[in-house]
Amino acid sequence: MADTTGHPESVVVVGAGQGGYQTAASLREHGYPGPITLISAEDALPYERPPLSKAYLKGEADEAQLWLRPATYYVRQSIDLVAGTVTEIDPAARTVRLADDSVYAYGHLVLATGSTPRTLGVPGAELRGVHTLRTARDAAALQSSLAGARRAVVVGAGFIGLEFASVARQAGVEVTVVEALERPLARVASAPTAEHFTRLHRANGTRLLFGQGVKALHGEGRSGVTAVELTDGTRLPADLVLVGVGVTPRTELAAAAGLPVDGGISVDARLLTGDPHISAIGDCAAFPQVRSGNRRRLESVQNAVGHAQSVARRLTGAPDAYGELPWFWSDQFATTVQIAGFDEGHDTEVVLGDDPEAFSVLLFRGDALQAVESVNRPTDHIAARRLLTQGTAPTPAEAAVPGFSLKDHLRGLTRGGTEAPVPL
Ligand SMILES: Cc1cc2nc3c(=O)[nH]c(=O)nc-3n(C[C@H](O)[C@H](O)[C@H](O)COP(=O)(O)OP(=O)(O)OC[C@H]3O[C@@H](n4cnc5c(N)ncnc54)[C@H](O)[C@@H]3O)c2cc1C
Repeated sequence: MADTTGHPESVVVVGAGQGGYQTAASLREHGYPGPITLISAEDALPYERPPLSKAYLKGEADEAQLWLRPATYYVRQSIDLVAGTVTEIDPAARTVRLADDSVYAYGHLVLATGSTPRTLGVPGAELRGVHTLRTARDAAALQSSLAGARRAVVVGAGFIGLEFASVARQAGVEVTVVEALERPLARVASAPTAEHFTRLHRANGTRLLFGQGVKALHGEGRSGVTAVELTDGTRLPADLVLVGVGVTPRTELAAAAGLPVDGGISVDARLLTGDPHISAIGDCAAFPQVRSGNRRRLESVQNAVGHAQSVARRLTGAPDAYGELPWFWSDQFATTVQIAGFDEGHDTEVVLGDDPEAFSVLLFRGDALQAVESVNRPTDHIAARRLLTQGTAPTPAEAAVPGFSLKDHLRGLTRGGTEAPVPL
């Protein structure tokens, strides 16, 4: 239902993670006057997840430092933060029901339910000492296991597995990373970037095993996990196992309500589901990519925040299609990788920089730059974001010219008089 200004009379947000919090905050920033209810299945104030595998795990940040805002913020902004799990949406009545049977009516509903880590479907997967990492509670449990651990096995060489491996090595724990594919970061980064991280982890004493799956986890009820058995029969002794094999989007509420779900809650370019009164954002939402139109889910802070801001703009009267450039970062040891854009399949790679510790990989499809992965080259990352956003990226031939720099390319365009000066 909408009031006379066209705004929905009330907004209910399911999930108070990065996207849910940002929806509520941006609605207030845009002057939305109606009631906002932010429903959280976690018994914590909304918090950010990236430090869970970085500063928090290292003991350099406590739980309060993860909070996106203090408790007083929600009171001051009249955002009703409700602890509970939504179990049902009734799209006809425009209500949601919680596990305690309380019911909330909505004018507009935003699903920001995030995703949940995949687990290993092998014997022993439930043993003590076997962890996944998604919530602050998971991170606290992992941190306390890490404090007493001698040998850790990480299953999955994605960003979360590798970030954990880097923290565990720095804590003096012996670490083996087991990956089913032939290289790390296979889903999310190019071969040159993956090679860099292979070298980095090996140089820091991590053992990396590729092309290996897990057959079983062994251990005893009391002592917990003691070994990981690989598909080739090798047994790796372990007193801590981190499973980082990707996530599953939380689509169950949407599916039960009859909303289209296809690898994520399907939304259009405005982030609306098949129901004009229900949006879906962040990790759980499969949305059309600007270039290809293919629906994809992205898992990043930028994506959740960008979606939330876009929905808040729409609900306060400025309808627009979501078209922000994706970007992402990860920290491992002293290395930061930053990715601008999204690689939907590339045919040409151009590497900038001779230093194996600091370079950028430009990924092209035909003449079109898809994404730029910058390893310890923050200036390239900033320039890449500008170029990709403006649609003024170089071609592979331009980028391959010796001495080419993204920053100079951007400056050259600026000098050409078509753009405002660029502070780099
Ligand atoms: C350890 C870790 C490190 C990361 N590091 C980075 C990084 O370096 N850079 C980066 O860009 N991204 C990083 N990410 C990813 C990023 O944090 C996520 O993409 C982002 O949090 C997604 O936001 P979201 O709002 O979609 O989901 P979430 O933040 O997961 O929030 C979803 C919330 O919805 C709740 N919920 C689900 N179902 C219900 C229900 N039925 N009722 C009530 N509540 C419900 C969940 O409990 C959860 O609290 C990291 C993630 C993790 C776990």
